[in-house]
Amino acid sequence: MAKKVLKFGGTSVGSIERIINAAKIIKREQEGGNSIIVVVSAMAGKTNELIDQSKAISKNFTRRELDVLLTSGEQVSSALLCGALNEIGVKAKSWMNWQIPIITEGENTNSRIININKEKINKFILDGGVAVIPGFQGISINGDITSIGRGGSDATAVAVAKIFNTDSCEIYTDVDGVYSSDPNKIPVAKKIDKISYEEMLELSSLGAKVMQSSAVQTAMIHDIPLEVKSTFTNRKGTKIFGQENIDYNKKVITGVAYSKDEAKIIF
Ligand code: ASP
Ligand code: MG
Repeated sequence: MAKKVLKFGGTSVGSIERIINAAKIIKREQEGGNSIIVVVSAMAGKTNELIDQSKAISKNFTRRELDVLLTSGEQVSSALLCGALNEIGVKAKSWMNWQIPIITEGENTNSRIININKEKINKFILDGGVAVIPGFQGISINGDITSIGRGGSDATAVAVAKIFNTDSCEIYTDVDGVYSSDPNKIPVAKKIDKISYEEMLELSSLGAKVMQSSAVQTAMIHDIPLEVKSTFTNRKGTKIFGQENIDYNKKVITGVAYSKDEAKIIF
């Protein structure tokens, strides 16, 4: 039996229909004999909407209050996803940052996860439940609600994979993997089956926004294999791991990404 982190990004939980679809994927994974911890983002557009609201209130909205506000998006999606899981007969439960707790250090809106208490979650998944953890959220040593930077749910997923020592960390998103270039701009772009952390970082520094770069960096440091998968198709995703696992005899160029004024080819 494998222990897995399944992370669902904003578009994957962007509507009620999509939340129900994500719940079905989770159910399938659990029925496959896996022990599941889910990390969830806010519904697509929610965080931006909350930022706009804070700006409409004040140009000087404090970072502390901004974190209270922005992390609410993940509270909503966690509860809705648990509800959807319960509805299809899956035992599931969510915990917020402060209940777990997910301890962070650093300043508001830009904190880092330094520890996650494993007790309640491990007990619940051992008893056959699906544990749902909000991405992006944290709590400081002083008890303030914090967030870990835009796109931070990826970092939460990697931290959970590391701290819970899971067998895999699967990032469900709206593309079915990492492409050799932007498939919307270059129609012949090919999906990459396997890519090293370094190559992934190169591609994302040049604009391929599949995963948050700092989360990929953390995965690289701790050698946590990642898999980017589509929430909307059953196609095989892209595996991201250490260079030693990739057979370079079989391939020449992994990908071409570009920034406006320069081009770079990665071998
Ligand atoms: N909801 C947060 C954001 O939009 C975190 C995330 O989705 O990864 O940045
Ligand atoms: Mg994201």
